[in-house]
Amino acid sequence: MGTGSVLDLSVVIPAYNEEERLRQNVPGIAEFLRCKDLRFEILVVNDGSKDGTARTAKELAKIYPMVQLIDLQPNRGKGGAVRAGMLAANGRFVLFTDADQSTPIGEVDKLLDKLEIGGYGVAIGSRAVRGAEVKHPQAWYRALAGKLFGLGTKLLCIRGVGDTQCGFKAMTREAVQKIFPRVTSNTAIFDIELLVVATREGCRVAEVPVKWVNDPDTRIPYNLRSALRIWAELFRIRRVQHVSWPPKVKR
Ligand code: UDP
Ligand code: MG
Repeated sequence: MGTGSVLDLSVVIPAYNEEERLRQNVPGIAEFLRCKDLRFEILVVNDGSKDGTARTAKELAKIYPMVQLIDLQPNRGKGGAVRAGMLAANGRFVLFTDADQSTPIGEVDKLLDKLEIGGYGVAIGSRAVRGAEVKHPQAWYRALAGKLFGLGTKLLCIRGVGDTQCGFKAMTREAVQKIFPRVTSNTAIFDIELLVVATREGCRVAEVPVKWVNDPDTRIPYNLRSALRIWAELFRIRRVQHVSWPPKVKR
């Protein structure tokens, strides 16, 4: 990869009560990237966890020196954790990925190709475009709620994206610096605001099919109350970002 920035890639992992899944998945991520001969860092963002997430990240950092802990207190929500990591990242390219590795790290190559060769500012993993491989899909009620929410997203905030919610997205550091200072959402739907801002900033967005294995063990509870909150957040994003007619993402 080119020069300019000392590191090729930063991997941001938001982590709320993730001591187990970090211990399970961080070594694999580190080994994979080491084999690719990349200069990289892994930023574990402890999002005010109540378990030993911070301690586990420090232990991992002793074995894998490219691992760093960003320690947030109290809990902000996934969006807040991701934003803290993205803004601290030093790599020429920056990926955020869930601690459960629902999309395995190996998929990063597809996103990096879009950034490096395709000239895109943002490359998002997707379960909704041809070529995606989804194993153990979500429970029917969550899938249905997701469909409705996707419709709401199009009507209220952003068009032209099949899957806004896959937790596996990469961008150039330039794009990170344009986008994330303007993202206000701390919630699990911060991605939508990210796409709205990216589009306004003129960044091209590639939607890339990825593998995705649903892990039913979730830190983002889904119930009637959280569903209502998420819808309210969609309206809030629309308001703070001054969306009148939802723009289409730039391809
Ligand atoms: N997460 C976080 N803060 C929170 C909730 C979740 O940083 O308040 C992180 C979590 O640790 C994980 C990612 O967000 O890395 C996605 O969470 P999860 O896989 O539990 O959500 P799901 O896949 O069920 O949507
Ligand atoms: Mg998950």
